[in-house]
Amino acid sequence: MTARVLVVDDILANVRLLEAKLTSEYFEVCTAMNGADALEAVDSFKPDIILLDVMMPGIDGIEVCRRIKTNTQAQHIPVIMVTALDQVEDRVRGLEAGADDFITKPVNDAALFCRLKSLVRLKMLMDELRGRNDAPVLGDASANLIDLAHVETGATIAIVDNRGIIADRIQDALGGMHQVEILSDPGQTISLSQETDLDLIIVSFDLLDHDGLRLCSQLRSFERTRQVPILVVVDVDDQSRLMRALDMGVNDYLHRPLDKMELKARVNTQIKRKRYTDRLRFNVTRSMELAVTDPLTGLYNRRHMDNQLAVQVANAASRGKAVAVLALDVDFFKPINDTHGHDVGDRVLQELATRLKAQVRAIDLCCRMGGEEFVVILPETDLQVGFTVAERMRRAIATKPFNAGAKQGPLAITVSIGVAGFESLTDTPQSILKRADDALYEAKRSGRNRVVSDAA
Ligand code: GH3
Ligand code: MG
Ligand code: MG
Repeated sequence: MTARVLVVDDILANVRLLEAKLTSEYFEVCTAMNGADALEAVDSFKPDIILLDVMMPGIDGIEVCRRIKTNTQAQHIPVIMVTALDQVEDRVRGLEAGADDFITKPVNDAALFCRLKSLVRLKMLMDELRGRNDAPVLGDASANLIDLAHVETGATIAIVDNRGIIADRIQDALGGMHQVEILSDPGQTISLSQETDLDLIIVSFDLLDHDGLRLCSQLRSFERTRQVPILVVVDVDDQSRLMRALDMGVNDYLHRPLDKMELKARVNTQIKRKRYTDRLRFNVTRSMELAVTDPLTGLYNRRHMDNQLAVQVANAASRGKAVAVLALDVDFFKPINDTHGHDVGDRVLQELATRLKAQVRAIDLCCRMGGEEFVVILPETDLQVGFTVAERMRRAIATKPFNAGAKQGPLAITVSIGVAGFESLTDTPQSILKRADDALYEAKRSGRNRVVSDAA
């Protein structure tokens, strides 16, 4: 992952040091040595992230941060304040001015890259969401997410600590804003995390009789927790285990003794990122679903049917797998619309879709081709079994009248179905569909409410 970093510090040696570290990790770097130049570079360089020294003559870091965070063009850019270890006051003022995180001098590489990565990832997610903001699938909920300074609440956070070293302090700092679960052993953590949707897991590396690192690797290996942010709490001198933790995908860390402000800032970043990711994933899933679904019935649409049938036919040709195709059409549907209205007609189609789906396996595909015409693809099914399934569908529809809201009460509905299957290597999706359609026509011609097989 690369990103554009603006480094601001009034001491040349500091600027050069950070520049060298960042460039060696392939970040693109721009530097400024006072507040005015920094603000100018925010406009011209358009950084993805800003490393900002607090103590500078003229416009100091706090003021630079405040101006960035009140400028609508720039407020989405994450700011990391660089403070001296003993400047607790500065951190409070920095966070109040809208800083997203801070690191202390002398700058430790692990801390630097870890925080950069977290915040850059967050910014990229935000950019993506901002870019897609015109998409109709996005609701108002995204508005809050765009605001980096927004303080997240209501998250479910698990803390793993069996020595009571950090749990109370974290509970104290976050309890009012989030739901905090304190867990004393890794096994319990694994089971809870597989049953509940956690937004964040905080793991103490000072567990009694257990290995925090091992727990982190387990959490990363399970599908359900692969994406859940993990924060670890480590001793300052436990550098090698920390490195391994970051390598395996732990998102960030805190040193003991815990600084409450630091804790809150980092928890906020992780939860915000989690919520962005969830929302983006939801939107992608939603738009993919929309692209293959018929809106009235929720069945697959014609485009998806075409694609899937092509796949099934190719499978049949190359691996000798059977496939059956059902063409289904509602009998005398036009009079239903004419007599009871289009809305009743629509509800008949919806109920029909429900009944069709109830008759097939999960791998079968029920599609609406348009109007009152449907196609069902049955993978690994021969013509004879296809006929049986079709007959079951016909009965499921004909034997029970439809409650479609018609004034006259439930409506008797019937369907005609034609069945065809993959027969020879010269078969194509079109040729199979054609034979299923011909069989359907035969079913209509010979009296409707019946199934006709291509082989008959
Ligand atoms: P047949 O037994 O020969 O299939 O007769 P039919 O009346 O079902 O066939 P036809 O093709 O003449 O009529 C289909 C009707 O389906 C015409 C149209 O009004 C109706 N229709 C098509 N799409 C929709 C829809 O989305 N909703 C509703 N309610 N009706 C639709
Ligand atoms: Mg019809
Ligand atoms: Mg028709």
